[in-house]
Amino acid sequence: MTQIHTPPQTKHKRVVIIGGGFAGLSLARELRKQPIEVVLVDKNNYHTFQPLLYQVATAGLEPEEITYPLRSIVQGQKNVRFRLGEVKRVDWKQKRVYLADDQSLSYDYLILAAGATPNYFNIEGAAENSYTLKSLSDAIRLRSHILQLFEKADQDPSLIKKGILNFVIVGGGPTGVEMAGALTELIQHTFKRDYPHLPLDKAKVVLIEAGDSLISMFKEESSAHALERLQESGVHVALGERVVRISDNAVYLNSKKMIYSTTTIWAVGVKAAPLADALSVEQTRGGRITVDFNLRIPGRPNTFVIGDMAAAMDKQGNLLPQLASVAQQAGKHVAKQITRELDGEELQSFVFKNPGQMATIGRHAAVAEFPGDIRFAGTFAWFTWLVLHLAVLFGFKNRMHVLISWICSYFSNCRGARLILNEPSSTPAKTKPYRIPKEGIKQKEPLRPNVQRVAPPQMDPLERIHAIIDRSEHVRRPF
Ligand SMILES: Cc1cc2nc3c(=O)[nH]c(=O)nc-3n(C[C@H](O)[C@H](O)[C@H](O)COP(=O)(O)OP(=O)(O)OC[C@H]3O[C@@H](n4cnc5c(N)ncnc54)[C@H](O)[C@@H]3O)c2cc1C
Repeated sequence: MTQIHTPPQTKHKRVVIIGGGFAGLSLARELRKQPIEVVLVDKNNYHTFQPLLYQVATAGLEPEEITYPLRSIVQGQKNVRFRLGEVKRVDWKQKRVYLADDQSLSYDYLILAAGATPNYFNIEGAAENSYTLKSLSDAIRLRSHILQLFEKADQDPSLIKKGILNFVIVGGGPTGVEMAGALTELIQHTFKRDYPHLPLDKAKVVLIEAGDSLISMFKEESSAHALERLQESGVHVALGERVVRISDNAVYLNSKKMIYSTTTIWAVGVKAAPLADALSVEQTRGGRITVDFNLRIPGRPNTFVIGDMAAAMDKQGNLLPQLASVAQQAGKHVAKQITRELDGEELQSFVFKNPGQMATIGRHAAVAEFPGDIRFAGTFAWFTWLVLHLAVLFGFKNRMHVLISWICSYFSNCRGARLILNEPSSTPAKTKPYRIPKEGIKQKEPLRPNVQRVAPPQMDPLERIHAIIDRSEHVRRPF
């Protein structure tokens, strides 16, 4: 039976935000001084800085360096409460959101900011046989897989001929380019020392792009620079090739070519989070929810959609890109609109101001473009990328850790711990759902003062990290 979850009632209007990503958090922060009650709901208890996921996947950074507890983020803000839970549906009439644990929350304003999920475009075998880079667990799983393959090759080098060290990255956008550069660097610099007996020149990183250029949203010069740099570093770039099928040990192209690979990394595109499909609202390309120029769902004046989930458009009617900057600006904009509405003022249209774009291509190499036709590439662009990413990362400790990791990697090629983290726990946790004791049940006798409490066993740090990985998805066959 559905339970009604009622946070302490206040006299203020309640804004329920679904999703503590870039969009949801920027909205919550913008409302900090308003007499509004905010409930932030997320299925994870942490925020993930997705632009650096590829560095976790390639052992450049540790998982905890790019994540931050949502409770810590909202701690200093009195009008925000965090609720851990996955929203499954919305009752539009009753103005309630329903969570996976069967509880529900009422709202005056609802903000849908649940982000996106990989889009496989119905390519045969892509969902089952490729690795994605959308969540922290994706990055840890991919890192473990890469490390395991090198261990296997070390035990049996004849597997190299069979393609065990072939890595195929599908999609030549920023994620694919960054991943290709970082993976090549990991192999050529770090693994060269870790596996001195392996012929690492036989390891192949292949980047496949259906279009005729990499990072096509950048200017031609930046795309050409990215291509040149990746090729120089040894990445095999295949432009104009479309993947038609992926099996557990090969990638098939429309040109009838086939590449042996047990590691296919899907960096092609995203679609709106599954919640969007459960809401009976109009959706457009990539499942994104149709919104008006105020970012509201047409006909639902108290529901806004922001970030990757929204089909927000510019003045010319083009869909805005699914980027952190769009999500953050939309969050701020909607916070202002709610305040305006409560003050009886007219709503304003959302106008995205492009702050520029950047992508790394590997060690000491990046491209950066800023408004006013400012464009640069190379080491200076790479430093700019480092500084700007450090500035927007959550938490002082995270910034310091990341800075130290980057300095260390810059001067000595050192890498993160390179732990393989997918061994099953030797003592599987027994998790029983918590049940509220029935009234009248006699309380157990309190411990006598002279009886010592036994401290719970210390959890192994590895197990602790395991605990945050949902191991139910993407179970893969071993090589
Ligand atoms: C590998 C990678 C690299 C990227 N690099 C860049 C870059 O360099 N620059 C850039 O601008 N952008 C980049 N992006 C895009 C950027 O990360 C996204 O545009 C941005 O995260 C979107 O913000 P959001 O708040 O809409 O969603 P997200 O940040 O994805 O947050 C969504 C939140 O909703 C939660 N959630 C989902 N479903 C539910 C549910 N049903 N109930 C409760 N909670 C839910 C999730 O746990 C998550 O915390 C990158 C993305 C990826 C994957």
